[in-house]
Amino acid sequence: MPPSTLVLPRATSRGSSVAGKAYWGMVGRVALTAATIDAAYIVLFLLLGSVPLAAINLISIAMYLSAYALIRRRRNMLGVTLIWVEVVAHSALGSLMIGWESGFHYYLLLFIPAIVIANTKGYAMPMVLGLLVYYLGLKSLCEYLGPLAPLPPRRVEIVNAIHVCLIFGMFAALASFYRRTILVAEARLLKQATLDPLTGLSNRGHFQTLASNELARCQRSGAPVALMLCDVDHFKQVNDHCGHAAGDRALVHVAQILSANLRECDVLARWGGEEFLALLPDSSLLAAHAAAERIRAAIEAHPLIIDGTPIAITLSFGVAQLQGGHDLQDATARADKALYESKRAGRNRVSLG
Ligand code: GH3
Ligand code: MG
Ligand code: MG
Repeated sequence: MPPSTLVLPRATSRGSSVAGKAYWGMVGRVALTAATIDAAYIVLFLLLGSVPLAAINLISIAMYLSAYALIRRRRNMLGVTLIWVEVVAHSALGSLMIGWESGFHYYLLLFIPAIVIANTKGYAMPMVLGLLVYYLGLKSLCEYLGPLAPLPPRRVEIVNAIHVCLIFGMFAALASFYRRTILVAEARLLKQATLDPLTGLSNRGHFQTLASNELARCQRSGAPVALMLCDVDHFKQVNDHCGHAAGDRALVHVAQILSANLRECDVLARWGGEEFLALLPDSSLLAAHAAAERIRAAIEAHPLIIDGTPIAITLSFGVAQLQGGHDLQDATARADKALYESKRAGRNRVSLG
């Protein structure tokens, strides 16, 4: 009878998103696993001498295989409903036939996390309450009627122990599925919050966090720190002449050359539209000037090729040093002033601030 994850995330019920496909793939695999476990149960119940329960498991296998086939055909709602019906009916039939002590009802408990996590419309608590009423009602009915197809107590204990083991495994699998889902979502959110989607570089906010940490470290050790601000020259013309998509490719191209020419310890970010800012720890003004000059030459030497046509791209730089007591904002303003100086002096050059 093993049910499965009975969870139905509304946002993915049509299975259209990547996450939805992965989720429904998982539900499909669970339905197959449940069918396999039910097949093993048939052997168990025949050995224990309960032909009716073995027969019920045959129907369960058919239901799980149908649910699997429906999910494969993207009839997800129907498939998952079939799984729910199987669990509710199987736990009731099993409990009524060989008694409450058999532990068939444990499977109903899996609905609690499933309902609470999957439900986004505020029906969770009424549904959990409904489940509780059903659970207690089934218990009372079992006690009132007594087992309809009783087994010797020792055999009922064996069935109970097997159900307990399966339930432990299922709760562990369910928790691990949610843990993985949360970790993936957390990583995606962190990426969205810290990285520029076009270039993959840090965004402004993330730069400030990373740079402040690096700056504090250098200030403690007394090491010099430099800032390098650069801006693509006449970038508007790239957009105007080659199109916005080519402009985007040019920004990625520049970001790649900047990354390739900076050290692992340097903090690089897309500062604005076509502006990039780097914090260079353990770097004097002279060293930062040399680095900027090297990058400027590299950009000049590597035009962006679009449809076989090279598009010349150049960068103007402003470099400033952070001295003890100077904060990032102050140094950024000096680098910006130096950058303006590079623009004014004809572009494609490095100025010190
Ligand atoms: P200068 O040499 O003085 O810096 O001139 P410029 O043309 O580079 O500077 P300007 O500020 O006039 O234009 C910058 C352009 O960058 C305008 C804006 O549409 C474009 N831009 C900003 N962000 C993006 C982006 O993400 N993609 C593309 N394709 N263009 C962008
Ligand atoms: Mg520009
Ligand atoms: Mg600009």
